[in-house]
Amino acid sequence: MQRRNSGKVARRRAGRGAASDVASSAGGLAAIASEVVACHRCPRLRRYCETIARTKRRAYRAEEYWGKPVPGFGDPLARLWILGLAPAAHGANRTGRMFTGDSSGDWLFAALHESGFARLASSASRHDGQHLTAAYISAVVRCAPPDNKPQPDEVAACSDFLTRELAALRNVAVLLCLGSIAFAAALRLLQAAGYAVPRPRPRFGHGAEYLLRPRATTTHPSSPPRALLVLASYHPSRQNTQTGRLTRPMWQAIFRRARAVVENAAPWTPSDRGFAG
Ligand code: SF4
Repeated sequence: MQRRNSGKVARRRAGRGAASDVASSAGGLAAIASEVVACHRCPRLRRYCETIARTKRRAYRAEEYWGKPVPGFGDPLARLWILGLAPAAHGANRTGRMFTGDSSGDWLFAALHESGFARLASSASRHDGQHLTAAYISAVVRCAPPDNKPQPDEVAACSDFLTRELAALRNVAVLLCLGSIAFAAALRLLQAAGYAVPRPRPRFGHGAEYLLRPRATTTHPSSPPRALLVLASYHPSRQNTQTGRLTRPMWQAIFRRARAVVENAAPWTPSDRGFAG
């Protein structure tokens, strides 16, 4: 009887621990999102986004553009973290949600839905009822850049948000990088957070994957205490999808791989927090 009661107490404590971890991750992400939306660190990008939001594309003339930096979106307990390059001028800069309202987003949400990470197979606005389970989406820079080309100082200015997301998303097992700029940013992020990044540096290629582990001596507060699979994919931009550089089967294979890894990786537990080697 006593053993049964102590089992119940342990389960109750574990449940309370899990609930407080969710609350802590969600609170951390909400705080980051508020700061992102109010950020003005990159004058060139802010001017560009605000101008696009005023001038609009003819097809969206009746819509109110978001026009502000775009925060990350998804599940605080994400196992899969998708890292894009930046919001699209008439996509997320219009709708206010990452990858929402453009053709790259059509590809992304279809694949997320097929692989069980998204409730809906498409995403048109931030009020469409889309919901991600075990997945989170953010980008290297959170303001749309002219010609989709952020400058190095803008990437550096925005990197602090990625560092903080890494700390908040403690359950992540796969970091899916869409395009070579996201891949390079992910390696810099993980190296700075205490992960051992091999030399020569891992090379970007569609389907390339690298299992990175925290360095034996790392105690960096933003480093999740677990190995993380960095998975690379071509970005689902029109330039890649319309030229056949990225095909549906290639794209779907990436998400099947991500799903398989997150299914097999052990979930993070509060006891992992003590990891330092
Ligand atoms: S790109 Fe990032 S750092 Fe630059 S203004 Fe936008 S949110 Fe701020």
